[in-house]
This record gives sequence, structure tokens and C-alpha cells, in this order.
Amino acid sequence: MMIVMSPLATEEEIAVVQARVDTLPDVHVVLIRGELNTVIAAVGDADAVREMGLEGYAGVNSVVAISRPYKLASSEVAHHEPTVFEVLGRTVGGPDAFCLIAGPCTVESREQTLEVARAVQAGGASMLRGGAFKPRTSPFAFSGLGEPALEILAEARAETGLPVVSELLDIQHADVIAQYVDVVQIGARNMQNYALLAVAGQLGKPVLLKRGLSSTIEELLMAADYVLKEGNEDVMLCERGIRTFETATRFTLDLSAIPVLKLHTHLPVIVDPSHAAGDRRLVEPLSRAAAAVGADGLIVEVHQDPEHALCDGAQALYASQFADFARDVGAHAALLGKHLSADTRTAPAG
Ligand code: PEP
Ligand code: MN
Repeated sequence: MMIVMSPLATEEEIAVVQARVDTLPDVHVVLIRGELNTVIAAVGDADAVREMGLEGYAGVNSVVAISRPYKLASSEVAHHEPTVFEVLGRTVGGPDAFCLIAGPCTVESREQTLEVARAVQAGGASMLRGGAFKPRTSPFAFSGLGEPALEILAEARAETGLPVVSELLDIQHADVIAQYVDVVQIGARNMQNYALLAVAGQLGKPVLLKRGLSSTIEELLMAADYVLKEGNEDVMLCERGIRTFETATRFTLDLSAIPVLKLHTHLPVIVDPSHAAGDRRLVEPLSRAAAAVGADGLIVEVHQDPEHALCDGAQALYASQFADFARDVGAHAALLGKHLSADTRTAPAG
């Protein structure tokens, strides 16, 4: 950390700050005298310096961090190699895999979910998504079928072989979510629900962590640290659009987030163009763009009858068109050497 003193700071003020930092056992203090400003460099335990609140001391201009505040998600500290993990034989992360997660926004019925599951499996999807507990802006909107939806997803997995992804909305659903799903999704609205992140980290399942609607990339990585801290290393991050002044799309897909994240974290990064766009006509071009900027995969909404979907119909791809979509996106991913992640487990003999 660098504590930059004001040009008007007195020697006494500088000495007070220096002495304060000097009380920290794991911090080495170096005083740098510039022409105008004096800088107190505090080398070592940055968190301890950060927590001192030195910005409020007389004579202090600013406190500037040199190292990044997220630790476990960082590729700069210890973990230089990309994180790669498998979900029922489908690879997530690494140089070769492009993970295509597809399915309905919400499980509405057995027939609807099985039909979409069959279509996305036939089209080359890597995993099936489907909401059982839905975060809805209005408390009067359809909020999912709950546990029966998870049973339907399990049936879809049994039939298609696709691993299932579903959102953990609340700590009280943790056991039932862990019982049924293969990947635990943390929704954008819960990205900073730290108690929920810790619970998600304890379930022994990979976690798909969505970026909050108004969260910075740094906050996303610090949220990931909450999951990683529980000893769960199988975390994928998801850019799903952020709030900006633009209203032409539901959210603004922050495509820069993907290469930025790739620079700073070892975790796989996927993109959700459906919730970002809010309009199915934009989903394919945004998916191609996501593949082109180096995403490790996509999560997209698909419905066999989007006009009658109970949630997010306008952004759902038609199930009948999914295979063409997957082929197109797969071709774009292939330009960067990535291929749609399929089950690589060898079939049991006999
Ligand atoms: C979802 O994936 O169903 C969802 C609600 O997404 P988000 O949390 O990104 O809004
Ligand atoms: Mn949705």
C-alpha cells in the first residue's frame, strides 16, 4: 500500500501516520520523499493497512493499493494455471473446452423441460439449465415450482445424460439443491450475499457465480473468494450484463469483462447473453462475440414455445433452432481452438 501525504502535510502528521503503520507486525515501512509529496510505502500485510482507515488521518491525500484485494481468485499470487474441472465428464475451463449450458429459464412442467432437454442435448449442449427457485422482481410473479422442479431436472438428466444447473436462491434450500443439481448457480442478485456464497462453497458441487447487476469486476472476484475460501475450487464466473444508462437492451453485456477477467483470474469465465439482451434476436450475435473474446462457454435460455413461457420468453431461443445456434457458436469458438464440451467419460464396458 502507498500512503500519499498531501504537499501541505506537516512533519508531525507524516510522523503520526508512519508510527501508526509501524505498529503492524507484518508491515515494513519505507518513507519516500518526493519534490512535493511524501509517500509512506507500507510493504506486507495490505489488508491490515487497508483496515486502519488512514484516509481519514490529517495530512493524508490518498491510500493507494498496489496488490489486488482478491486473493484466491487471482492468477497473480499463487495460482497461475487456469482452473479446469469436470462436471459428469464435461470439461469446464482450460484452452480447449467451450461449455454450452442451455435450457429453460424456469422449469414449468415435466413435458416442457423434457422437450427442451432433448432438443438441447441433440443440438450439442454440454449441460442443462432450469430454474426451480426463481428470483423475481415482483413478489407476485411466478417464482418456480421448487423441489418438484428439481425432480423434473433429475429426470431430464437421467434421460439425456446432461448435468443440471439450477440456482440456489436461499440458504434454506441448500440441502435440496445439493441433493439434485450438478452445478449450483448463484444469481446476479445474490452475488454479494456473503452468507449464501459461503454455504454454496460448502455443498461439494461446482458453483456458477453470476456478476451482480451493478457490481464491478473486482467485486465479482472478491465474491468468488468467499466460495473458494470454503475449499471449493470449482467455480466459474458469469458475465450476464450490467446496469448502464442504455435502455435498448435489458442490461449492457460487458464484453470487456471477459478478457479483463482472463488477465486477472485463473477461473473459467462464461457469458449469459440471454439475460443481458432480453431479446432472442441479439443472443446469437452476442454469443459469437463472447466466443471471439475468449469466453469459456455460454449459458443461454431455450424454450419450445417461448411465446407462452412463464418467464423470460422474449429472450429464449426456439428449441427447434438450437442445433443451428450451437453449430454457429461452436464454429466461432473453434477459431480460438475451443470445442463444445461433451461427455468424455468412457462408456462402461458391456
Ligand atoms: C437466471 O439465470 O435464471 C437468472 C435469474 O439470471 P440472473 O441472476 O443473471 O438475473
Ligand atoms: Mn431467465
